[in-house]
Amino acid sequence: MTVSAKIEEAGFRPASRIASVSVSKILQIGAKAAAMKRDGLPVIILGAGEPDFDTPDNVKDAAKRAIDAGETKYTALDGTPALKKAIVEKFRRENGVDYTTEEVTVATGAKQILFNAFMASIDPGDEVIIPTPYWTSYSDIVEICGGVSVLIPCDAKAGFRLQAEQLEKAITPKTRWVLLNSPSNPSGAAYSAEDYRPLLDMLLRHPHVWLMVDDMYEHITYDDFAFVTPVAIEPRLKERTLTINGVSKAYAMTGWRIGYAGGPKALIKAMAVIQSQATSCPSSVSQAASVEALNGPQDFLKDRRDSFRRRRDLVVSRLNAIDGLECRTPEGAFYTFSGCSGVLGKTTPMGKTLEADQDFTDYLLEEAHVAVVPGSAFGLSPYFRISYATSETELVEALDRIERACAALRT
Ligand code: PMP
Repeated sequence: MTVSAKIEEAGFRPASRIASVSVSKILQIGAKAAAMKRDGLPVIILGAGEPDFDTPDNVKDAAKRAIDAGETKYTALDGTPALKKAIVEKFRRENGVDYTTEEVTVATGAKQILFNAFMASIDPGDEVIIPTPYWTSYSDIVEICGGVSVLIPCDAKAGFRLQAEQLEKAITPKTRWVLLNSPSNPSGAAYSAEDYRPLLDMLLRHPHVWLMVDDMYEHITYDDFAFVTPVAIEPRLKERTLTINGVSKAYAMTGWRIGYAGGPKALIKAMAVIQSQATSCPSSVSQAASVEALNGPQDFLKDRRDSFRRRRDLVVSRLNAIDGLECRTPEGAFYTFSGCSGVLGKTTPMGKTLEADQDFTDYLLEEAHVAVVPGSAFGLSPYFRISYATSETELVEALDRIERACAALRT
């Protein structure tokens, strides 16, 4: 059901700009799973998009100090000088990219960065190229801002990565942005420098197209994968690239709501205009905490990465051992995105035939009490996403249940 249909039931006429925006399937599934749990069912939720670790103590302490020091008022519009400095240093130290403080911006989560950027740059009918599977907020934000999302399917055979020929075919005179996310939510796939190169070459040939990159999962990569951000590979694209990042995932700070970006000064200024009329500034206390997250010790990231990697290996190997499922090993993030075409067409013990990935995930929730998200929620079927940001004990139990549920299907 779209948002507007739902709201109209209550006798209110919503604006046309939200007419085609849907209530997130992820939230719908989460709500259903939570209700089942309240009814006493032993539901395991593998849907959450946040680390199960806690915010580091040094970060929490910095926030407490900020409160005691009276840093409780409005701050500079798009970031305190201290946080902007920490972001400039982060980009230089970790990415080899030089931004000035006028080229960085801070908002209430990377989600608001995306919102500010699209609000500030999109006119009605402007197109944004988004490879699928994709984090659903991308297209919803584009549509709220009056743009058109051009979704390009990138399946497991392509490593869930956009290919240069696909990009070229999708570019039109109306293309404003191409939006890439590495490592990806939901596929966990990431672009190496070699993967990026042909795409960046293609963009050099199309100077009216700007590049937005979402590096949110930068610090959650595995094995010998070397994370790289496009501007570091191709500095000529710096003048039309917005590099988005944030503290939510790396530092387990989803609730603090701080995201940031580096980009050309004119775009950063325009984004600040939007922010000035939306929130005035991000939270003062959260900004102080984020300074410590970026400037403080980073060694704990490795332990967290190791722990995520063990869970990834567990989930991938168990899923691939199940008849009908197929799981590519992701390079990063904390999600697996598995193919489930092998279970479609089969019938559940209750007599229902599984026709689409959502039928399969409904079956897992209702019969096995495991909540996962269908590929359709991310624009690519038939797949399903597991978030493995939960304990190994819970993962093992969930995978036992998925295995039993698949074995109970009849052809
Ligand atoms: N980008 C991606 C790919 C994400 O998965 C998320 C969170 N689910 C965000 C951006 C937004 O993060 P936040 O608003 O918490 O900074």
